[in-house]
Amino acid sequence: MSTVNERIERIYAEVTRRNQGELEFHQAVKEVIECLGPVLRKHPQYDEHKIIERICEPERQIIFRVPWVDDRGEVQINRGFRVQFSSVLGPYKGGFRFHPSVYLGIIKFLGFEQIFKNAVTGMPIGGAKGGSDFDPKGRSDAEVMRFCQSFMLELYRHLGEFTDVPAGDIGVGAREIGFLFGQYKRITNRYESGVITGKSPKWGGALVRKEATGYGAVFFVEQMLAARGDAIEGKTCVVSGSGNVAIYAIEKLQALGAKVVACSDSDGVIHHAKGLDLDLIKQLKEVERRRIRDYAHTHRDAQYVERGNIWDIACQVALPCATQNELDEASARKLVANGCIAVSEGANMPTTPGGIRVFEDARIAFGPGKAANAGGVATSALEMQQNASRDAWTFEYSEQRLHEIMTNIHRNCYETAEEFGSPGNYSIGANIVGFRRVADAMLAFGVI
Ligand code: GLU
Repeated sequence: MSTVNERIERIYAEVTRRNQGELEFHQAVKEVIECLGPVLRKHPQYDEHKIIERICEPERQIIFRVPWVDDRGEVQINRGFRVQFSSVLGPYKGGFRFHPSVYLGIIKFLGFEQIFKNAVTGMPIGGAKGGSDFDPKGRSDAEVMRFCQSFMLELYRHLGEFTDVPAGDIGVGAREIGFLFGQYKRITNRYESGVITGKSPKWGGALVRKEATGYGAVFFVEQMLAARGDAIEGKTCVVSGSGNVAIYAIEKLQALGAKVVACSDSDGVIHHAKGLDLDLIKQLKEVERRRIRDYAHTHRDAQYVERGNIWDIACQVALPCATQNELDEASARKLVANGCIAVSEGANMPTTPGGIRVFEDARIAFGPGKAANAGGVATSALEMQQNASRDAWTFEYSEQRLHEIMTNIHRNCYETAEEFGSPGNYSIGANIVGFRRVADAMLAFGVI
């Protein structure tokens, strides 16, 4: 009889063999299943019923052609994906990413993480992810619309408020959600508000959904600091990215009395020692869709570093809110050496395994994305709840619900890490909380 650890290693070897070249997916699987040895020893039925092997294989994967015509009349062909990973806790749930780097391995890593993240929220949502290698950057509204309509023309048959409920992610915001919902409504002849989340509050969307991922990541770091008898107020912070997650993380950090001195985009880094001007960032990014370098045209005392490393900038609290693997081992060492005491992942898998090890060895508070950025999808579940009851909650009430959800996630992860002998390790806590919820439902449903 092999040991539990040997079996976990064998499962991982099988995942890499069956999913060749999908490096981000391998990384995401490894990060979860490495934590599960003690869980399988405590609950041998998970092992007997091959729960891990089943979770690692998506329930369904859809890959399709997305043809559309650009403004010059030229035919463009993109590839569309929807990976429906797990529906044991609820309808498939997870965003769409439109970015040129998208391929099956990215969607599978995101979908796999989404299973556990969604389970950690305690809400009735399964895990999925989708997207395309379409690059919205530099495209006109009309081009984005035609792409979204073509994308939905294939995908609508796989979606539904009780089947699969997408939302946004990188490259998919309110504009894209509008085009996607409009096309779904037109094809199906149904005003099915609950089929997609992240909608504008003007037509069925929920207040606070836009802010939720960023706010949630800040509430999580607030909880981690409180567990150590500390607080956000007065801290110097660095937030990577300048998209939806970063903008609302900065907003909440500033509201709680922190000073945010840097943000970035894929071209470079803005460092503004006296504190970022969030109104200007919103204007540049949300309204004008410009690059962050333009910030320095207004604020002459800010420095813009083309292709700079944002993690070179000293801070006490770091929020990686850009993209996967943006914070590596060397950057983590730099952060620790510069006095960083807490990291909360607003993005999905932004810290490399080497970076996580550095934070763990230094015993700084590290909030993994599965817990720290779960406020976005949790608020999507609140949007589904409002749609189902044809109700619309106030901003204050919705934010209070988000705060409660993040506080519960923090407590569950904290207590579970302790239960399994790794106090203070939120990665282990989140992976185990999420895995147990999914595994128990799978056991109840039999072999499916
Ligand atoms: N894309 C977000 C995430 O990574 C949100 C998904 C959702 O709201 O369904 O969790």
